Amino acid sequence: MNRLPKHLTRLGGELWLTDDEPGLLTSVRITDVLFEAQSPFQHVMIADTVPFGRALILDGIIQTTVAEGFIYNEMIAHVPLSVHPRAERVLIIGGGDLGAAREVLKYPFVRSVDLVEIDQTVVEASRRYLPEIAGEALDPRLRLHFEDGARFAARADGPYDVIIVDAADPIGPATVLFESPFYEALARLLAEDGLLVAQTDSPFHHPETARRTLRALEALFPIVRPYLAVVPSYPSGLWLFTLASRRYEAVRPLDPGIRTRYATTDVMRAAFALPPYVVERIRPEGPSG
Ligand code: SAM
Repeated sequence: MNRLPKHLTRLGGELWLTDDEPGLLTSVRITDVLFEAQSPFQHVMIADTVPFGRALILDGIIQTTVAEGFIYNEMIAHVPLSVHPRAERVLIIGGGDLGAAREVLKYPFVRSVDLVEIDQTVVEASRRYLPEIAGEALDPRLRLHFEDGARFAARADGPYDVIIVDAADPIGPATVLFESPFYEALARLLAEDGLLVAQTDSPFHHPETARRTLRALEALFPIVRPYLAVVPSYPSGLWLFTLASRRYEAVRPLDPGIRTRYATTDVMRAAFALPPYVVERIRPEGPSG
């Protein structure tokens, strides 16, 4: 490899990808770059990593990996599908690796999944290089829309039973997916007993994202409950999601026919138990991050 792929550095003959949090660099060793493209929205890369296997990397940030991407995808999909008693119409915003869609489609009562991804390159690269995450077969219930999620939400009809916001970090094209007008549009799209789940960033490194999201959702929904998962490839590992609901909040038992590797009924219920230091960070009066 003569030209150094974007976002990688060569150290003693090895390639490293470095994630840059304020005051903290985390580096992952890359053994092979399988795909690299600059799309109109971001730099898209598929690479083999030493600790996490094959990974989808957007603008130099790991999004999902073969070794542990199931943790994030199961927790963003099975929690809402277990809280809502029978979600037939599901909307996913973002999620171009198709991992969340794949989990949602495990439920036989789901009749349609609209997935709105801004960047077609992410879907094509994931289908080609990450079949373990994206799934190999095309499910006729899945409809792909290549469009900005905020624009789709502003013009779509609904109603949806469950909406999943599987957005990248709140920088670049995903910034709009963390703002109040977007959540207001989603609230309009939900059925009267509908609910949504949004990924809410690292409560350790970016508690301000959680605070902003909680404030926006609490103005719109009577039930707003953050929950945690441990995702080893994300900075600090600790990751927050937020459930916002009009009626349902209890996690019902997962159907034994649905196979998961992280999201069991017990794990999903326990995920809502937040350590006090996390609550301190994400409440409105918490540290500025
Ligand atoms: N699991 C990931 C994480 O939190 O690191 C996120 C998964 S998924 C890859 C995020 C997707 O959101 C990306 O494919 C990105 O292209 C898409 N995206 C970013 N901004 C968007 C927007 N405004 N509308 C729709 N999709 C968007």
